[in-house]
Amino acid sequence: MVARFRKFTLLAGLAALAVTAGAKAADAPPQRVLYSGATVIDGTGAPARAGQDILVEGERIVAVGPHGSLPTGQARSVDLAGRWVIPGLIDTHVHMATPPNPKRAQAMLRRLLYGGVTTVRDMADDLRSVSELSRQTLVGEIPGPDIRAAAVTAGPPFFNDPRIGAVSMGYKAGTAPWAQAIDENTDIPTAITLARGTGAAAIKIYADLPADLIAKLTAEAHRQGMLVWAHSAVFPTRPADVIAAGVDVVSHACYLAYQVEPVMLASYEDHTPVNESLLAKTGDDPVIAGLYKAMLAKGTIVDATGSLFVRYDKLRKTHPEIRPLRCTGATTARLVRQAWKAGVPVSAGTDFEADVASPWPALYDELDFLAHDVGMPPLAVIHAATLVGAEAAGQAKDTGSIAAGKLANFVVLAADPVKDIGNVRSIAMTVKRGKEFARADYRPVTVEEMGNDDED
Ligand SMILES: [Zn+2]
Repeated sequence: MVARFRKFTLLAGLAALAVTAGAKAADAPPQRVLYSGATVIDGTGAPARAGQDILVEGERIVAVGPHGSLPTGQARSVDLAGRWVIPGLIDTHVHMATPPNPKRAQAMLRRLLYGGVTTVRDMADDLRSVSELSRQTLVGEIPGPDIRAAAVTAGPPFFNDPRIGAVSMGYKAGTAPWAQAIDENTDIPTAITLARGTGAAAIKIYADLPADLIAKLTAEAHRQGMLVWAHSAVFPTRPADVIAAGVDVVSHACYLAYQVEPVMLASYEDHTPVNESLLAKTGDDPVIAGLYKAMLAKGTIVDATGSLFVRYDKLRKTHPEIRPLRCTGATTARLVRQAWKAGVPVSAGTDFEADVASPWPALYDELDFLAHDVGMPPLAVIHAATLVGAEAAGQAKDTGSIAAGKLANFVVLAADPVKDIGNVRSIAMTVKRGKEFARADYRPVTVEEMGNDDED
Protein backbone atom coordinates (compact mmCIF):
# COMPACT_ATOMS: atom_id res chain seq x y z
CA MET A 1 0.00 0.00 0.00
CA VAL A 2 2.77 2.38 1.00
CA ALA A 3 4.74 1.47 -2.08
CA ARG A 4 1.70 2.11 -4.25
CA PHE A 5 1.13 5.48 -2.66
CA ARG A 6 4.76 6.44 -3.26
CA LYS A 7 4.53 5.39 -6.86
CA PHE A 8 1.43 7.54 -7.30
CA THR A 9 3.15 10.55 -5.73
CA LEU A 10 6.17 10.11 -7.96
CA LEU A 11 4.05 9.90 -11.11
CA ALA A 12 2.00 12.93 -10.11
CA GLY A 13 5.21 14.79 -9.42
CA LEU A 14 6.63 13.88 -12.81
CA ALA A 15 3.41 14.99 -14.53
CA ALA A 16 3.57 18.35 -12.74
CA LEU A 17 7.21 18.72 -13.76
CA ALA A 18 6.35 17.99 -17.40
CA VAL A 19 3.66 20.69 -17.38
CA THR A 20 6.05 23.25 -15.88
CA ALA A 21 8.77 22.41 -18.39
CA GLY A 22 6.29 22.63 -21.27
CA ALA A 23 4.99 26.03 -20.16
CA LYS A 24 8.51 27.33 -19.70
CA ALA A 25 9.53 26.24 -23.18
CA ALA A 26 6.50 27.97 -24.71
CA ASP A 27 7.05 31.25 -22.81
CA ALA A 28 10.79 31.67 -23.36
CA PRO A 29 12.13 30.93 -26.83
CA PRO A 30 15.85 30.09 -26.88
CA GLN A 31 18.10 33.10 -26.63
CA ARG A 32 19.33 34.59 -29.92
CA VAL A 33 22.82 36.07 -30.15
CA LEU A 34 24.34 37.86 -33.13
CA TYR A 35 28.13 37.63 -33.31
CA SER A 36 28.85 40.40 -35.76
CA GLY A 37 31.55 41.63 -38.08
CA ALA A 38 34.17 38.89 -37.62
CA THR A 39 36.56 37.36 -40.12
CA VAL A 40 35.36 33.77 -40.34
CA ILE A 41 37.54 30.76 -41.11
CA ASP A 42 34.88 28.12 -41.47
CA GLY A 43 36.94 24.95 -41.00
CA THR A 44 36.28 23.50 -44.47
CA GLY A 45 39.68 24.67 -45.71
CA ALA A 46 38.05 27.56 -47.61
CA PRO A 47 39.74 30.97 -47.36
CA ALA A 48 38.84 33.39 -44.57
CA ARG A 49 35.78 35.60 -45.16
CA ALA A 50 35.89 39.11 -43.68
CA GLY A 51 32.88 40.99 -42.29
CA GLN A 52 30.66 38.05 -41.36
CA ASP A 53 27.77 37.75 -38.91
CA ILE A 54 26.91 34.52 -37.11
CA LEU A 55 23.41 34.19 -35.69
CA VAL A 56 23.02 31.72 -32.84
CA GLU A 57 19.79 30.49 -31.29
CA GLY A 58 20.12 28.35 -28.18
CA GLU A 59 22.92 25.88 -28.84
CA ARG A 60 22.90 26.11 -32.66
CA ILE A 61 24.03 28.40 -35.43
CA VAL A 62 20.95 29.41 -37.43
CA ALA A 63 22.60 31.58 -40.08
CA VAL A 64 25.96 32.89 -41.29
CA GLY A 65 26.18 35.81 -43.72
CA PRO A 66 27.74 39.14 -44.64
CA HIS A 67 27.60 41.79 -41.92
CA GLY A 68 24.14 43.34 -41.64
CA SER A 69 22.41 40.79 -43.88
CA LEU A 70 20.78 38.53 -41.29
CA PRO A 71 17.29 38.98 -39.84
CA THR A 72 18.21 39.28 -36.17
CA GLY A 73 14.91 40.01 -34.40
CA GLN A 74 15.56 40.45 -30.68
CA ALA A 75 19.10 39.08 -30.71
CA ARG A 76 21.70 40.20 -28.20
CA SER A 77 24.64 41.52 -30.17
CA VAL A 78 28.34 40.74 -29.65
CA ASP A 79 30.64 42.98 -31.67
CA LEU A 80 33.49 40.94 -33.17
CA ALA A 81 34.88 43.59 -35.53
CA GLY A 82 38.65 43.10 -35.81
CA ARG A 83 38.38 39.52 -34.52
CA TRP A 84 38.76 36.09 -36.13
CA VAL A 85 36.42 33.15 -35.62
CA ILE A 86 37.39 29.52 -36.17
CA PRO A 87 35.31 26.41 -35.36
CA GLY A 88 35.77 24.81 -31.96
CA LEU A 89 38.98 22.76 -32.02
CA ILE A 90 38.96 18.97 -31.79
CA ASP A 91 41.68 16.82 -30.22
CA THR A 92 41.23 13.36 -31.70
CA HIS A 93 43.42 11.58 -29.16
CA VAL A 94 43.08 12.14 -25.43
CA HIS A 95 43.02 9.91 -22.34
CA MET A 96 40.93 11.33 -19.52
CA ALA A 97 40.88 8.42 -17.09
CA THR A 98 43.99 6.21 -17.11
CA PRO A 99 43.78 5.75 -14.19
CA PRO A 100 40.47 7.46 -13.34
CA ASN A 101 41.06 10.65 -11.37
CA PRO A 102 38.07 13.00 -11.69
CA LYS A 103 39.84 15.98 -10.16
CA ARG A 104 42.69 15.76 -12.66
CA ALA A 105 40.32 15.09 -15.56
CA GLN A 106 38.16 18.09 -14.70
CA ALA A 107 41.26 20.31 -14.66
CA MET A 108 42.34 18.96 -18.06
CA LEU A 109 38.84 19.46 -19.47
CA ARG A 110 38.76 23.04 -18.18
CA ARG A 111 42.10 23.84 -19.83
CA LEU A 112 40.87 22.26 -23.08
CA LEU A 113 37.62 24.22 -23.22
CA TYR A 114 39.12 27.59 -22.28
CA GLY A 115 41.79 26.79 -24.89
CA GLY A 116 39.12 26.55 -27.60
CA VAL A 117 38.69 22.75 -27.69
CA THR A 118 34.99 21.86 -27.89
CA THR A 119 35.17 18.13 -28.70
CA VAL A 120 37.63 15.36 -27.85
CA ARG A 121 37.93 11.71 -28.77
CA ASP A 122 38.71 9.72 -25.66
CA MET A 123 40.81 6.83 -26.94
CA ALA A 124 40.50 4.23 -24.15
CA ASP A 125 40.00 4.74 -20.47
CA ASP A 126 37.81 3.68 -17.57
CA LEU A 127 34.51 4.51 -19.25
CA ARG A 128 32.63 4.50 -15.95
CA SER A 129 34.54 7.66 -15.13
CA VAL A 130 34.50 9.06 -18.69
CA SER A 131 30.72 8.61 -18.93
CA GLU A 132 30.19 10.82 -15.91
CA LEU A 133 32.65 13.45 -17.19
CA SER A 134 30.94 13.32 -20.55
CA ARG A 135 27.52 13.89 -18.97
CA GLN A 136 28.86 16.75 -16.88
CA THR A 137 30.43 18.61 -19.83
CA LEU A 138 27.37 17.96 -21.99
CA VAL A 139 24.88 19.48 -19.56
CA GLY A 140 27.27 22.22 -18.44
CA GLU A 141 27.90 21.14 -14.85
CA ILE A 142 31.64 21.50 -15.48
CA PRO A 143 33.47 23.40 -18.24
CA GLY A 144 34.81 20.97 -20.82
CA PRO A 145 34.54 19.74 -24.39
CA ASP A 146 32.01 17.16 -25.55
CA ILE A 147 33.59 13.72 -25.15
CA ARG A 148 33.30 10.87 -27.66
CA ALA A 149 34.75 7.74 -26.15
CA ALA A 150 36.04 4.39 -27.38
CA ALA A 151 35.66 0.95 -25.82
CA VAL A 152 38.85 -1.07 -26.27
CA THR A 153 39.10 -4.45 -27.94
CA ALA A 154 42.38 -6.32 -28.18
CA GLY A 155 43.88 -9.78 -28.16
CA PRO A 156 44.48 -11.53 -24.81
CA PRO A 157 48.24 -10.69 -24.46
CA PHE A 158 47.43 -6.98 -24.21
CA PHE A 159 45.44 -7.53 -21.01
CA ASN A 160 48.61 -8.02 -18.97
CA ASP A 161 49.33 -4.31 -19.56
CA PRO A 162 49.13 -2.50 -16.19
CA ARG A 163 47.08 0.27 -17.80
CA ILE A 164 44.27 -2.25 -18.31
CA GLY A 165 44.18 -3.05 -14.60
CA ALA A 166 44.00 0.69 -13.90
CA VAL A 167 40.99 1.25 -16.17
CA SER A 168 38.99 -1.82 -15.17
CA MET A 169 39.32 -2.15 -11.40
CA GLY A 170 36.82 -4.62 -10.05
CA TYR A 171 36.85 -6.70 -13.23
CA LYS A 172 39.04 -9.57 -14.26
CA ALA A 173 41.28 -8.08 -16.97
CA GLY A 174 39.66 -8.45 -20.37
CA THR A 175 36.08 -8.80 -19.13
CA ALA A 176 35.01 -5.17 -18.60
CA PRO A 177 32.61 -4.16 -21.41
CA TRP A 178 34.88 -1.18 -22.27
CA ALA A 179 38.09 -3.25 -22.31
CA GLN A 180 37.37 -6.66 -23.78
CA ALA A 181 39.78 -9.42 -24.67
CA ILE A 182 38.84 -10.86 -28.05
CA ASP A 183 39.91 -14.18 -29.56
CA GLU A 184 38.56 -16.69 -32.08
CA ASN A 185 36.06 -18.01 -29.50
CA THR A 186 34.50 -14.60 -28.78
CA ASP A 187 30.84 -14.08 -29.68
CA ILE A 188 31.53 -10.89 -31.61
CA PRO A 189 27.95 -9.53 -31.89
CA THR A 190 27.63 -9.81 -28.10
CA ALA A 191 31.02 -8.19 -27.54
CA ILE A 192 30.01 -5.23 -29.69
CA THR A 193 26.64 -4.93 -27.98
CA LEU A 194 28.37 -4.86 -24.60
CA ALA A 195 30.76 -2.17 -25.86
CA ARG A 196 27.83 -0.17 -27.20
CA GLY A 197 26.08 -0.41 -23.85
CA THR A 198 28.88 1.57 -22.20
CA GLY A 199 27.82 4.63 -24.19
CA ALA A 200 30.99 4.50 -26.30
CA ALA A 201 30.77 6.02 -29.77
CA ALA A 202 33.31 3.59 -31.15
CA ILE A 203 35.36 0.53 -30.51
CA LYS A 204 39.10 0.97 -30.52
CA ILE A 205 41.02 -1.90 -32.05
CA TYR A 206 44.17 -1.70 -30.03
CA ALA A 207 46.57 -4.62 -30.28
CA ASP A 208 47.32 -8.29 -30.78
CA LEU A 209 44.55 -9.26 -33.19
CA PRO A 210 44.76 -11.11 -36.52
CA ALA A 211 43.37 -9.52 -39.68
CA ASP A 212 40.27 -11.74 -39.89
CA LEU A 213 39.13 -10.80 -36.37
CA ILE A 214 39.73 -7.10 -37.09
CA ALA A 215 37.54 -7.39 -40.18
CA LYS A 216 34.79 -9.19 -38.21
CA LEU A 217 34.85 -6.67 -35.34
CA THR A 218 34.73 -3.78 -37.80
CA ALA A 219 31.82 -5.15 -39.79
CA GLU A 220 29.80 -5.92 -36.66
CA ALA A 221 30.53 -2.55 -35.03
CA HIS A 222 29.39 -0.77 -38.16
CA ARG A 223 26.27 -2.97 -38.32
CA GLN A 224 25.41 -1.88 -34.78
CA GLY A 225 26.01 1.80 -35.58
CA MET A 226 29.38 2.21 -33.90
CA LEU A 227 32.51 3.74 -35.37
CA VAL A 228 35.78 1.84 -35.51
CA TRP A 229 38.99 3.53 -34.41
CA ALA A 230 42.17 1.47 -34.69
CA HIS A 231 45.89 1.66 -34.18
CA SER A 232 47.36 1.98 -37.66
CA ALA A 233 49.28 -1.26 -37.05
CA VAL A 234 47.70 -3.83 -34.75
CA PHE A 235 50.49 -6.43 -34.43
CA PRO A 236 50.72 -8.94 -35.96
CA THR A 237 48.32 -7.29 -38.42
CA ARG A 238 49.96 -4.89 -40.82
CA PRO A 239 48.61 -1.44 -41.64
CA ALA A 240 47.39 -2.54 -45.10
CA ASP A 241 45.14 -5.17 -43.51
CA VAL A 242 43.86 -2.78 -40.84
CA ILE A 243 42.87 -0.34 -43.59
CA ALA A 244 41.39 -3.12 -45.74
CA ALA A 245 39.17 -4.10 -42.78
CA GLY A 246 37.34 -0.80 -43.27
CA VAL A 247 38.12 0.94 -39.98
CA ASP A 248 37.14 4.63 -39.93
CA VAL A 249 40.24 6.17 -38.37
CA VAL A 250 43.79 4.93 -37.81
CA SER A 251 45.86 6.41 -34.98
CA HIS A 252 49.60 7.19 -34.98
CA ALA A 253 50.96 7.94 -38.46
CA CYS A 254 54.25 6.44 -37.22
CA TYR A 255 52.91 2.88 -37.05
CA LEU A 256 52.04 2.99 -40.76
CA ALA A 257 55.76 2.62 -41.45
CA TYR A 258 55.66 -0.98 -40.18
CA GLN A 259 54.21 -1.77 -43.60
CA VAL A 260 57.77 -1.67 -45.02
CA GLU A 261 59.09 -4.33 -42.60
CA PRO A 262 59.79 -7.66 -44.31
CA VAL A 263 58.69 -9.47 -41.12
CA MET A 264 55.94 -7.84 -39.07
CA LEU A 265 56.33 -7.68 -35.28
CA ALA A 266 54.41 -10.60 -33.78
CA SER A 267 52.88 -8.61 -30.93
CA TYR A 268 52.23 -5.11 -29.62
CA GLU A 269 54.37 -5.96 -26.61
CA ASP A 270 57.43 -5.99 -28.91
CA HIS A 271 58.45 -2.33 -28.90
CA THR A 272 61.14 -2.58 -31.59
CA PRO A 273 60.98 0.75 -33.40
CA VAL A 274 60.28 1.03 -37.12
CA ASN A 275 63.39 0.37 -39.20
CA GLU A 276 63.50 3.85 -40.71
CA SER A 277 66.29 2.91 -43.12
CA LEU A 278 63.76 0.78 -45.04
CA LEU A 279 61.80 3.87 -46.08
CA ALA A 280 62.72 5.60 -49.34
CA LYS A 281 65.83 7.73 -48.80
CA THR A 282 64.14 10.90 -50.05
CA GLY A 283 60.69 11.96 -51.23
CA ASP A 284 57.57 9.82 -51.10
CA ASP A 285 57.90 6.21 -50.05
CA PRO A 286 56.19 3.91 -52.59
CA VAL A 287 54.91 1.38 -50.03
CA ILE A 288 53.41 4.15 -47.91
CA ALA A 289 51.93 5.63 -51.10
CA GLY A 290 50.09 2.33 -51.57
CA LEU A 291 48.60 2.62 -48.07
CA TYR A 292 47.47 6.17 -48.73
CA LYS A 293 45.84 5.16 -51.99
CA ALA A 294 43.83 2.53 -50.12
CA MET A 295 42.92 5.03 -47.38
CA LEU A 296 41.74 7.55 -49.95
CA ALA A 297 39.56 4.91 -51.61
CA LYS A 298 37.98 4.00 -48.26
CA GLY A 299 37.86 7.50 -46.75
CA THR A 300 40.08 6.45 -43.82
CA ILE A 301 41.31 9.29 -41.62
CA VAL A 302 44.76 9.34 -40.01
CA ASP A 303 44.92 10.63 -36.43
CA ALA A 304 48.55 11.75 -36.73
CA THR A 305 49.69 12.28 -33.07
CA GLY A 306 52.96 13.75 -34.37
CA SER A 307 53.94 16.20 -31.63
CA LEU A 308 54.15 13.31 -29.17
CA PHE A 309 57.08 11.88 -31.16
CA VAL A 310 58.81 15.25 -31.53
CA ARG A 311 58.42 15.84 -27.80
CA TYR A 312 59.97 12.44 -27.05
CA ASP A 313 63.01 13.19 -29.21
CA LYS A 314 63.61 16.33 -27.13
CA LEU A 315 63.07 14.47 -23.87
CA ARG A 316 65.55 11.76 -24.84
CA LYS A 317 68.28 14.35 -25.41
CA THR A 318 68.29 15.06 -21.68
CA HIS A 319 67.07 11.60 -20.60
CA PRO A 320 68.78 9.09 -22.93
CA GLU A 321 67.74 6.25 -20.62
CA ILE A 322 64.10 6.61 -21.72
CA ARG A 323 62.97 3.91 -24.15
CA PRO A 324 62.58 5.33 -27.68
CA LEU A 325 59.14 5.47 -29.26
CA ARG A 326 58.48 3.52 -32.44
CA CYS A 327 59.49 6.44 -34.72
CA THR A 328 61.52 9.63 -34.50
CA GLY A 329 59.69 12.93 -34.82
CA ALA A 330 61.28 13.49 -38.21
CA THR A 331 59.96 10.21 -39.62
CA THR A 332 56.51 10.88 -38.21
CA ALA A 333 56.50 14.34 -39.83
CA ARG A 334 57.54 12.82 -43.12
CA LEU A 335 54.74 10.22 -43.03
CA VAL A 336 52.15 12.89 -42.19
CA ARG A 337 53.47 15.17 -44.96
CA GLN A 338 53.11 12.38 -47.49
CA ALA A 339 49.55 11.68 -46.24
CA TRP A 340 48.54 15.31 -46.46
CA LYS A 341 50.05 15.71 -49.96
CA ALA A 342 48.28 12.55 -51.12
CA GLY A 343 44.95 14.04 -49.95
CA VAL A 344 44.43 11.64 -47.04
CA PRO A 345 42.40 13.39 -44.31
CA VAL A 346 44.66 14.14 -41.33
CA SER A 347 43.16 14.90 -37.92
CA ALA A 348 44.92 16.56 -34.98
CA GLY A 349 45.35 14.21 -32.04
CA THR A 350 47.85 14.49 -29.20
CA ASP A 351 47.93 11.41 -26.93
CA PHE A 352 49.70 13.38 -24.20
CA GLU A 353 48.82 15.98 -21.63
CA ALA A 354 50.51 19.40 -21.53
CA ASP A 355 52.66 20.14 -18.49
CA VAL A 356 50.89 21.53 -15.46
CA ALA A 357 52.55 24.94 -15.98
CA SER A 358 51.23 25.24 -19.53
CA PRO A 359 48.30 27.62 -20.01
CA TRP A 360 47.46 25.83 -23.28
CA PRO A 361 46.21 22.35 -24.10
CA ALA A 362 48.60 19.89 -25.79
CA LEU A 363 46.62 20.33 -29.02
CA TYR A 364 48.47 23.61 -29.66
CA ASP A 365 51.70 21.57 -29.92
CA GLU A 366 50.04 19.37 -32.54
CA LEU A 367 48.93 22.46 -34.50
CA ASP A 368 52.55 23.68 -34.39
CA PHE A 369 53.74 20.22 -35.51
CA LEU A 370 51.36 20.18 -38.48
CA ALA A 371 52.34 23.72 -39.50
CA HIS A 372 56.08 23.69 -38.89
CA ASP A 373 57.28 20.06 -38.96
CA VAL A 374 54.87 18.85 -41.65
CA GLY A 375 54.59 22.14 -43.56
CA MET A 376 50.81 22.43 -43.80
CA PRO A 377 49.51 25.99 -44.34
CA PRO A 378 47.46 27.35 -41.40
CA LEU A 379 44.12 26.93 -43.23
CA ALA A 380 44.88 23.23 -43.70
CA VAL A 381 45.93 22.92 -40.05
CA ILE A 382 42.65 24.50 -38.92
CA HIS A 383 40.75 22.15 -41.24
CA ALA A 384 42.58 19.17 -39.68
CA ALA A 385 41.84 20.33 -36.14
CA THR A 386 38.16 21.09 -36.81
CA LEU A 387 36.15 19.47 -39.63
CA VAL A 388 38.42 16.44 -40.10
CA GLY A 389 38.41 15.96 -36.33
CA ALA A 390 34.61 16.10 -36.33
CA GLU A 391 34.52 13.45 -39.05
CA ALA A 392 36.89 11.28 -37.01
CA ALA A 393 34.61 11.68 -34.00
CA GLY A 394 31.51 10.91 -36.10
CA GLN A 395 30.17 14.40 -35.31
CA ALA A 396 30.55 16.22 -38.64
CA LYS A 397 26.78 16.75 -38.89
CA ASP A 398 26.86 18.73 -35.64
CA THR A 399 30.25 20.37 -35.38
CA GLY A 400 33.63 21.00 -37.02
CA SER A 401 32.64 23.93 -39.23
CA ILE A 402 30.83 27.24 -38.99
CA ALA A 403 27.57 26.69 -40.83
CA ALA A 404 23.82 27.06 -40.29
CA GLY A 405 22.38 24.07 -38.45
CA LYS A 406 25.57 23.11 -36.65
CA LEU A 407 26.20 23.53 -32.95
CA ALA A 408 27.46 26.97 -31.96
CA ASN A 409 30.97 25.67 -31.26
CA PHE A 410 33.56 28.27 -32.16
CA VAL A 411 36.58 30.23 -30.95
CA VAL A 412 37.12 33.99 -31.07
CA LEU A 413 40.72 35.11 -31.67
CA ALA A 414 42.31 38.56 -31.40
CA ALA A 415 45.03 37.81 -33.99
CA ASP A 416 44.94 36.23 -37.45
CA PRO A 417 45.56 32.44 -37.32
CA VAL A 418 46.06 32.35 -41.11
CA LYS A 419 49.15 34.53 -40.73
CA ASP A 420 50.50 32.30 -37.99
CA ILE A 421 48.82 29.26 -36.47
CA GLY A 422 50.46 30.27 -33.16
CA ASN A 423 47.85 33.03 -33.02
CA VAL A 424 45.39 30.52 -31.54
CA ARG A 425 47.08 31.73 -28.34
CA SER A 426 45.32 35.09 -28.82
CA ILE A 427 42.07 33.37 -27.82
CA ALA A 428 39.48 35.72 -26.35
CA MET A 429 36.52 33.38 -25.95
CA THR A 430 35.29 29.85 -26.60
CA VAL A 431 31.64 29.30 -27.46
CA LYS A 432 30.41 25.76 -26.93
CA ARG A 433 26.80 24.77 -27.60
CA GLY A 434 25.97 28.48 -27.51
CA LYS A 435 27.54 29.01 -24.09
CA GLU A 436 30.35 31.58 -23.78
CA PHE A 437 33.60 30.94 -21.91
CA ALA A 438 35.76 34.09 -21.80
CA ARG A 439 39.48 33.36 -21.70
CA ALA A 440 39.76 36.04 -18.98
CA ASP A 441 37.77 33.70 -16.73
CA TYR A 442 40.18 30.77 -17.19
CA ARG A 443 41.45 29.47 -13.89
CA PRO A 444 44.83 27.79 -14.57
CA VAL A 445 45.23 24.11 -13.75
CA THR A 446 47.21 23.56 -10.55
CA VAL A 447 49.71 21.02 -9.23
CA GLU A 448 47.14 20.24 -6.58
CA GLU A 449 44.69 19.16 -9.33
CA MET A 450 47.09 17.69 -11.83
CA GLY A 451 49.89 16.25 -9.73
CA ASN A 452 53.49 17.25 -10.25
CA ASP A 453 54.94 16.58 -13.74
CA ASP A 454 58.29 15.63 -12.21
CA GLU A 455 56.79 12.80 -10.24
CA ASP A 456 55.24 11.16 -13.33
ZN1 LIG B 1 46.41 6.87 -26.91
